Amino acid sequence: MSALDRLFQRIEGYRNEIIMLQSELTSRVALGPDNGGSGEHEKSAYLFEKLKEMAPASLEEIRSPDVRAHQGYRPNLVARWNGETHHPTVWVLSHVDIVPPGDLNLWEGDPYRVRVEGDRIIGRGVEDNQHGIVSSYLALKAIRESGEVLKRPVGLAMVADEETGSEYGLDYLLKNRPDLFSSDDLIVVPDGGNNEGTMIEVAEKSMLWLKFIVTGEQCHGSTPEKGKNTLYAAARLIVDLEKLKKEFALEDPLFRPPRSTFEPTKMEGNVPNINTIPGRDVFYMDCRILPQYSLDEIMQYAEKIAGEVAGQLHLSIRIETYYRQEATAPTPSDAPVVVALKEAITRVKGLEAKPMGIGGGTVAAFFRRLGLPAAVWITETDTPHQPNEYCLISNIISDAKVFAYLYLGG
Ligand SMILES: [Zn+2]
Repeated sequence: MSALDRLFQRIEGYRNEIIMLQSELTSRVALGPDNGGSGEHEKSAYLFEKLKEMAPASLEEIRSPDVRAHQGYRPNLVARWNGETHHPTVWVLSHVDIVPPGDLNLWEGDPYRVRVEGDRIIGRGVEDNQHGIVSSYLALKAIRESGEVLKRPVGLAMVADEETGSEYGLDYLLKNRPDLFSSDDLIVVPDGGNNEGTMIEVAEKSMLWLKFIVTGEQCHGSTPEKGKNTLYAAARLIVDLEKLKKEFALEDPLFRPPRSTFEPTKMEGNVPNINTIPGRDVFYMDCRILPQYSLDEIMQYAEKIAGEVAGQLHLSIRIETYYRQEATAPTPSDAPVVVALKEAITRVKGLEAKPMGIGGGTVAAFFRRLGLPAAVWITETDTPHQPNEYCLISNIISDAKVFAYLYLGG
């Protein structure tokens, strides 16, 4: 049996360790102030001790000031271990914070007390992002316990505030500690993927959230000629906005789905009763745009469509940008981190992984904006942010093997 196979065997024996870590982490509720909590301190302090047990070359708690949080800061952990060479470092960046459990009636038990059912561990945060924390940590633990030597340096970063914008998490680290990451490092963000573990996310679409405000004139339901019905106008506009799909129809096979998407989503309430014709309607659209298009051209075209509908129905339509994030340059499909991940996934799972683009929204964008080639990868269930969120122990084991392979340098 090779040294690597022995290492993998050791990782396969970690079931109890995984359940213990997941229980401890889940019981330490890490909600940011935007989600009604006081921060990640308790969970982060627990992780600090776990990391310290593994004798890192350096271990830092980097505090980002946040007056709303416990003790006025948000904790970010960065631990590093030396390798035989000094360069490049393999980084795994996971996040400590969680999203709230939502409607407790939809949970079959206490979201903060894990339940184990066969291969499943159920609880808030077990997949998003404790899966990443536990698998990257246990990979290193297995290497240390087996006496293997790291070929290259390894860094584990466990940050705050991923779920509410990263201002106090990764964004803070990158702005205040530019010494940490370098462009030849291999940076993995284990916070997104598919069920098989074959999707390596390297690109994201631009995001554009638009708010449409339709203003007409309210009147009695029996005398429509005296008013201007904004619900009708909003409906017409929603149908006409379908033209965006035709106008911006480019397909890029790197992305899933390959086209830009333009979806009407939220609708604000208008009148409370049936016999009043509404004079104001507000709805929103979530657009995920291929990086080949500029968001300004999308806006201009949406304005044109809205202008036509407003002109035909003699009322006014205003468009506001609710949120806008221009796509960053993708991580190249042949970047060292992608190549190394592909090789590791093939060795561990016997599957061929592919670089892909998604609809947008991971912290990898913060790295990519600075020219740091990050790849998002994990073997993920579809349960993050859902009631009864669960992870699979077998996925954590297989992903820990992939990380171990990466740490050892193949
Ligand atoms: Zn996450």
